[in-house]
Parts: sequence; structure tokens; C-alpha cells
Amino acid sequence: MFNQTDQMPVIRRVAIVGSGLAGLSASLLLRDENLAVTVFEKSRGPGGRMAAKRVPGGSADIGAQYFTARNPAFFRFLARHAGEACFGPWEGRFGYQSPGGEWESFPDEKRYVGIPRMTAITRGLSSTLDLRVETRIERLVGEGREWTLQDTDGNSYGPFDAVLVTAPPAQTQELFRNSELRTLAQALDESVSHIQPCWATALHFSQPLKQPYEGMRCQDAVLYWIANNSSKPGRDDHGEWWILHANPEWSHRHQDTAPDKVAEAMVAAFQRVIGSDTRPDELVSHRWLYAKSSSGDNPGFRWFADHRIGLAGDWLSGGRVEGAFESAKGLAEKILAR
Ligand SMILES: Cc1cc2nc3c(=O)[nH]c(=O)nc-3n(C[C@H](O)[C@H](O)[C@H](O)COP(=O)(O)OP(=O)(O)OC[C@H]3O[C@@H](n4cnc5c(N)ncnc54)[C@H](O)[C@@H]3O)c2cc1C
Repeated sequence: MFNQTDQMPVIRRVAIVGSGLAGLSASLLLRDENLAVTVFEKSRGPGGRMAAKRVPGGSADIGAQYFTARNPAFFRFLARHAGEACFGPWEGRFGYQSPGGEWESFPDEKRYVGIPRMTAITRGLSSTLDLRVETRIERLVGEGREWTLQDTDGNSYGPFDAVLVTAPPAQTQELFRNSELRTLAQALDESVSHIQPCWATALHFSQPLKQPYEGMRCQDAVLYWIANNSSKPGRDDHGEWWILHANPEWSHRHQDTAPDKVAEAMVAAFQRVIGSDTRPDELVSHRWLYAKSSSGDNPGFRWFADHRIGLAGDWLSGGRVEGAFESAKGLAEKILAR
């Protein structure tokens, strides 16, 4: 277990908690360097907040709407590991509302989406990994220099030389508390306080709404974002699916409001923003408890060398999909540099 030259424990077997973009990126970057990686995911499939919800006739991107690839390394990584067929540019028109209510176009920038749905990317990335889905890790048990992971069904996995947790900070903190890692849990207090919820609602219209933009950032008491999901490449919808995201303050105030009441308020706000009384013929809502971080502090990743525990995720690197990749890359490089 020990590298005799510098007394640093060698890391060969790595457990990764979470299969969002950060967890999958860290897994592939370490696996490429011949480390043995096992990924644990509490949900039925990979993707985390790069999510698509089944809706009548197809699916709708209920989480991340699009992503940038300003860092060429991110584009190359996706092309190599997910495959170029499962993502592409969303050639929509994008606008934002000024505080006075007027609409302006966003400057041109390439915005990418998964094809035919956002989860196509994380499905592609995970296809060659040892991924254990429906496995919620509840506790990390340290014995000497090794870690064993326990799930909520009482199963144990391991041993591992290091554990990388890529869950949002509140879930990471809960895991540390259950594992009696009090100092690590406390170190996350500030990050937990910055996480904001988001209510999302998908609406179906049988006729096109004919709006000037496919993606709109609004100034509204309820809504923050509106998008025509059916305008993304590879969607084969009858009619149009639109996605609405409520703003963080409103989502916070309505965190415990019933989904039908939330949907009603969001539809009314949508009608107000687009200036039409058209009603959807289907709708589905989803509450994200841990949607985005409002923190301006971006350390990139955390590595607790004494514990051989690392943290990666968008909340450590500016939020957003590309930040999740950069956080994972930084942590993987830190581990490989040892
Ligand atoms: C409504 C919304 C809109 C967004 N819009 C955009 C956008 O337009 N552009 C953009 O770039 N970004 C957007 N984002 C942010 C983007 O989705 C995230 O930055 C990115 O997906 C985060 O990836 P991650 O891997 O860090 O975390 P996550 O995707 O949250 O992955 C964490 C994973 O850990 C799993 N997990 C947690 N606890 C455990 C446990 N104990 N055991 C096992 N598994 C566990 C979770 O199930 C999850 O799959 C949006 C997010 C939301 C919610």
C-alpha cells in the first residue's frame, strides 16, 4: 500500500459517489490512467442535474438547459468519451429581458445540448464505467488506510484507497456526518448555505407558440428562464414542449408548496411574460432542492489528503456543466500528480 520513496499511500482503487457530469468526468480521467474506479449513484440512471424527464410523447430537459464548451479540453473530452453523435449545438435565438421589460438578444455563443435529450451525454460517458445505480451511499467507514462504503440497504463496497464525493454540498455534508467526519462536515457549512432551489415545469402546446426567442431569461416575480425544448436538435415532438424555471427567491418561498399550485402560478407567469393566454394541454413539475450555488468562491475542488477524500462538483467551480467538468479535471490531476 505504500510508495516507499515518499511514504505517500498509493491510490489505485477509487470510489466515486455521484454520476453527474463531475463524477463521470473524474471517473473517466482516472480510469484512463489505469486506476480502478467504481461509481455509485442513488438514482436509476446517471446524469444528476443534466436531467431529462419522461413526458407524454418523449422527454423534456428539466435540469441543465444547455452548456458551453469554452475550454477546448471539455469539447475534446466529450467527443472522445461520449461520442460526437450524442451532443451538438442548439442553434436557437436567445434573449434576455432588461429591468425595464424590453427584450434584447444575447451575444452569439455556441450552446450545446445532448441529442436527443440531455441525458444522452451522461449515458454515453458512463457506458464503459463500473456504475452501480440505485445505490445511495450512506456512510464511509475507514479502516487503516482503506475506505469501505455502505449503502442504505446495508450493502458494503470496497476496500478503496480514496473516495471522491461529487454530490451537492448538503448531501455531501450528510454523508460526512453519518461517517463521523465532523471536521469535514463543518467545512461545508458555508457552501450548504449558498445552495438555492429551483422549481421547473414543462408545458406542452399542440400548436407552435411562435415566440421571437427559443431561450429567454426573464425579469419576473416568478420566472427566471423559459425555453422551447422542442427547438433543440433531434427532438421529435408533436407540438412544442416548453420549459419554465422559477427564480431562486420564488422557488425558496414555495419550496413546500404543492406541485399543482406551483404549476398554476408558473403557467400564469408564463402567459404574462409571453403576452398570451394560451393554456398548455399537458404539464409536469419538478422541484430541484439543490439547483445552483450563489457562492462566488470557486476553489475548483477540495482534497483532504489526510483522509484521502476529494470533493468535486459545479458548486466548487462557478456552477454550470462546464464548471463541473473543470472541477473533476482539477481533482483527477491532483490525485494523478501524487
Ligand atoms: C434547473 C437547473 C437549470 C440549470 N441550467 C443550466 C444551464 O443551462 N447550463 C449549465 O451549464 N448548467 C445548468 N445547470 C447546472 C448544471 O446542471 C450543473 O452545474 C451540473 O449538472 C452539475 O453536475 P455535478 O456532477 O456537479 O452535480 P450533479 O449533477 O448534481 O450530480 C451529483 C450526483 O450525485 C448523486 N448523489 C448524491 N448523493 C448521493 C449519495 N449519497 N449516493 C450516491 N449518489 C449520490 C446525485 O443523484 C447526482 O446524480 C442547471 C441546473 C438546474 C438544477
